[in-house]
Amino acid sequence: MAEYKRVEPDLDFIKGVMESGGDTLNRCYQCATCSVVCPLSTPESPFPRKEMLWAQWGLASKVSGDADVWLCHQCGDCTAYCPRGARPGDVLGAIRANAIRYYARPRALAGILSKPSGVLGMVIAGMVLFFVAAALWAKVTGEAFPFPEGYVEYHKFLSVVPIDIVVLPIVGLIAWACYLGVRDFWGDIYRGAGLPLSYNGTASSPSFGILMTRYLWPAIKEILSHERFKKCGQTSERVKGHLWALWAFIILFAVTVYVMIYADVLGNLWPKAGFHTPLPLWHPVKIAGNVGAIMLIAGIWMIKTMRENKTREGILSSSTQDWILIWLIFAVGITGLGAEIIRLAQVKVLAYPVYLVHLGCVITLFVSLPYSKFAHLLYRTTAYVHQHYAEDIRAGKAGFGLEKPGRPAH
Ligand code: SF4
Ligand code: SF4
Repeated sequence: MAEYKRVEPDLDFIKGVMESGGDTLNRCYQCATCSVVCPLSTPESPFPRKEMLWAQWGLASKVSGDADVWLCHQCGDCTAYCPRGARPGDVLGAIRANAIRYYARPRALAGILSKPSGVLGMVIAGMVLFFVAAALWAKVTGEAFPFPEGYVEYHKFLSVVPIDIVVLPIVGLIAWACYLGVRDFWGDIYRGAGLPLSYNGTASSPSFGILMTRYLWPAIKEILSHERFKKCGQTSERVKGHLWALWAFIILFAVTVYVMIYADVLGNLWPKAGFHTPLPLWHPVKIAGNVGAIMLIAGIWMIKTMRENKTREGILSSSTQDWILIWLIFAVGITGLGAEIIRLAQVKVLAYPVYLVHLGCVITLFVSLPYSKFAHLLYRTTAYVHQHYAEDIRAGKAGFGLEKPGRPAH
């Protein structure tokens, strides 16, 4: 006799998807055109038809444990061909927004950072934090506060040492939140893929060395070249803006690390040896920083323009989260470049406030990593890694303690 399973829909999940830009969800009648036209879907695990069904049924845990949701780049090809106007590309975007909230620790922060007022509040809180740090620093150095004497030099207002004292604990907490989110996500997508579990029900994962060399590095290479993104048809022009922004972040990260070592470590070890900021304009690291800032502004502007055009054409729909991230990154770029130009122009009354706004935007962008659309960086990378790891497990090349390629699984 056939066994029937009662579906218990998670109505809050359905409501959350519909409110995050997936309000066309119920139009889907399962024709599967979307899975056929999707340039990123695979024959072994086609999407997004199945995700549309699961989301309609309110199967929240099933959708959360589906790595395919993260292989979608919201190119809009499926949306263009859907005969029912169900906009599957946008529904998957809404599912991802919900998943980010689902894996956020603490979850309340994801709620706060999903609203423009919450982001603004976070920027202001960051500014207050740095302002207090600057006031305390002025007591240590004896500088006038809030406008130090003489030429505008930001290290007189707030050197890298107090910045690090504020930033490093925050970096530690955010890194921990990222770890918890990725760990839970990994467990869910592993179980969702029906892969063999250990005797106590835990998911297998590769050892650190194998993870880095066999799975993570190839995934990073794919992301750096946007190999999959380039297959998108309707919104292929998004690739350029995303690549510019991505490489700008990499350049700016490298510059930040250099400055930390140069000014924090060397500057403090040998205070009189001249290891301090600002670097001269002709310094290669300074040039790299400026190029990175210009690339960031240009890249995010391309993304913004493309999104506006495609939204107008009906190919994409854009949620508040999309715009929050775009404007926050834009604010980081423009205040960073602005602070430097104003410093060069020596407009003291503007320079320090703009610098403070820049620091507030940077810390907010960083804090938003596991809580906003920025978390795509974490979960999409994890989904890429999982896809290749799952292939290896199915081929008998990986699994519990058997991650070495070529060794058989039990
Ligand atoms: S989303 Fe559209 S194309 Fe995809 S199965 Fe549903 S009706 Fe068909
Ligand atoms: S938006 Fe693009 S990548 Fe995503 S499911 Fe549709 S066709 Fe595939």
